[in-house]
Amino acid sequence: MFYKSTRNSALQVDSATAILQGISTDGGLFVPAELPSLTMDEIKLLAEKSYVERAAYVFAKFLTDFTEAELRYCTENAYNTKSFEHEDIAEISHLFDGTYMLELWHGPTCAFKDMALQILPYLMTTAAKKKQLDQKIVILVATSGDTGKAALDGFKDVPGTSILVFYPEEGVSPMQKRQMRTQAGDNVGVCALKGNFDDCQNGVKAIFTNSEVKEQLAANGMQFSSANSINWGRLLPQIVYYISAYATLAADGEIAYGDKINIVVPTGNFGNILAAYYAKRMGLPVNRLICASNINKVLTDFINTGVYNRNREFFATCSPSMDILISSNLERLLYLLTGEDDAQIREWFTALSSEGTYTVSDSVKQALQAEFYGGYCDDAQTKTTIAEIFEEYSYTCDTHTAVAVKVYRDYRKATGDTTKTVIASTASPYKFSASVLEALEGQPSALDEYAMVDRLAEMTNLPVPEALASLQGKPERFTDSIDRTDMKSYVLKTLGI
Ligand SMILES: *Cc1c(COP(=O)(O)O)cnc(C)c1O
Repeated sequence: MFYKSTRNSALQVDSATAILQGISTDGGLFVPAELPSLTMDEIKLLAEKSYVERAAYVFAKFLTDFTEAELRYCTENAYNTKSFEHEDIAEISHLFDGTYMLELWHGPTCAFKDMALQILPYLMTTAAKKKQLDQKIVILVATSGDTGKAALDGFKDVPGTSILVFYPEEGVSPMQKRQMRTQAGDNVGVCALKGNFDDCQNGVKAIFTNSEVKEQLAANGMQFSSANSINWGRLLPQIVYYISAYATLAADGEIAYGDKINIVVPTGNFGNILAAYYAKRMGLPVNRLICASNINKVLTDFINTGVYNRNREFFATCSPSMDILISSNLERLLYLLTGEDDAQIREWFTALSSEGTYTVSDSVKQALQAEFYGGYCDDAQTKTTIAEIFEEYSYTCDTHTAVAVKVYRDYRKATGDTTKTVIASTASPYKFSASVLEALEGQPSALDEYAMVDRLAEMTNLPVPEALASLQGKPERFTDSIDRTDMKSYVLKTLGI
């Protein structure tokens, strides 16, 4: 199986290279040359297997240059009860009749990013060994809050790697900030940026593709890679949990094999929902993919109009991990929907970076609308939804998941579609205690962060994850804050170049 660039279909690399490099040299994203298929018989087979086995099975279809033993090594080390609360890894709970919460936040940093970032370091170091790479891998990360911590946890003290994370200074929750600033490990660095997530992401992408910087790194025995969802190694593990959820629901008799399900995803960079779409293209019976946004609703507008326009006001919301105006992974979707028209992708994404906007053709818009429903809600609706869901079902949602629940309820009302539905539950409510508590109590709380955590635990009976509780009193190691124009020099300085 080869991977090609969305901006140049002729450029082909193997999966080890795609994972090691993170992004193509032409600025495009790596995509599988063709999507492998998944039959109902295979899904039945997977239903009898553990999460580790399911993951290894799906991985083998995409990472054909990895041996079975290598894939077993990677999956067994990533998905176990040392890192995750349960051996199910991704737990499913019932919200109401025919609606399921796929809880993806039972890993070490309490957000769905762990599902991919616990395994990415194993995939990357295995790929490095295969390629006999003797350079140190430098992971640069732009984070809207959750990726940063999950990547730090995954890569901390992994031999042959070092990791540097940039987060928007005012754009993450207090708990997310503490998680990153207290990170342990000898190969880690964290820095705040005076700007928003898009500034972080643009800055990191620019450094990645800057040939002068790359040469400086090479001269010092280093090379860049990415732990953001532009890296194929981030997306692939996310395909697994949608397939796994379907297999579990079928094995439990909640659905019959072959039944279609809807999937609802609270969306920012379009990585998580794209993974669900890939699962569908492989053969997973999926009816509608429901793309839920907060008030930064660039994706809702795009799905409804075919016009992508990032030239708009940016809002800091109570679902900060979705505060994004440039959804990188849309490039992969459009590559598929245009029939792999790399010239068209180049044109649109050049326009996006120069004009901030592009408009897709009617046929692409129709294809998009056939697969995706887009909706959004504001912070007030997010909080009302948290309160309602708690009242009605005794279920505590974090702010991101609440956006998904709200948009799904709107969808159901608008369409009358009662197809069984899986909602991606993407973070622990304790990462956003202030907003969740405000939603439940009806007013902002005057308590400090950890008192809020305790109060929330009292109200909801939801256990506080040890990983968050143990941050209290930990010293902060990383307090640097820089202007976005200084990113490049900061990276070089941190690497000792
Ligand atoms: C990253 C994140 C999202 C958005 O996921 P994308 O793959 O960027 O669309 C949603 N919710 C939470 C909690 C996140 O951390």
